[in-house]
Amino acid sequence: VPAPAQPKKKRNSRRRERIVEFLQGIDPFLSSQAIHQMLKARGASMGLATVYRQLENLVEEGEVDSIISPSGEKLFRHCGSDGGHHHHIICKICGASQAIEDEEVEEMAETAGKRYKYSEVSHSLEIFGICETCSRKRVR
Ligand SMILES: [Zn+2]
Ligand SMILES: [Zn+2]
Ligand SMILES: [Zn+2]
Repeated sequence: VPAPAQPKKKRNSRRRERIVEFLQGIDPFLSSQAIHQMLKARGASMGLATVYRQLENLVEEGEVDSIISPSGEKLFRHCGSDGGHHHHIICKICGASQAIEDEEVEEMAETAGKRYKYSEVSHSLEIFGICETCSRKRVR
């Protein structure tokens, strides 16, 4: 008896789990290409398009954070327990990041919305630089 075809939804949710699990064990922000390659190296057979689509869904669901790097590349990270609204300072070289929760940013956004009479105000802010570890390597 041939095995019944795997329902598409089930297959997708397993891929999703695999990506979430992988991201949970990884610290830096990574591009979808990097994530795809690392998954492949660990034996996952997923195309780049699939990985990208799953990542996009996870971002939409608020499960995964995404940022645009200064070079215009989209980077992903699972922030987990420090989830909720926050900002990041990110290393341009290695992707290391710290979550920033700064009330001043939140207040500034709110004030700007009020001042210009905008509703449904949202904001995004990412700070880029070179982390301590990478700057030490560069000096040598
Ligand atoms: Zn985050
Ligand atoms: Zn770095
Ligand atoms: Zn904010």
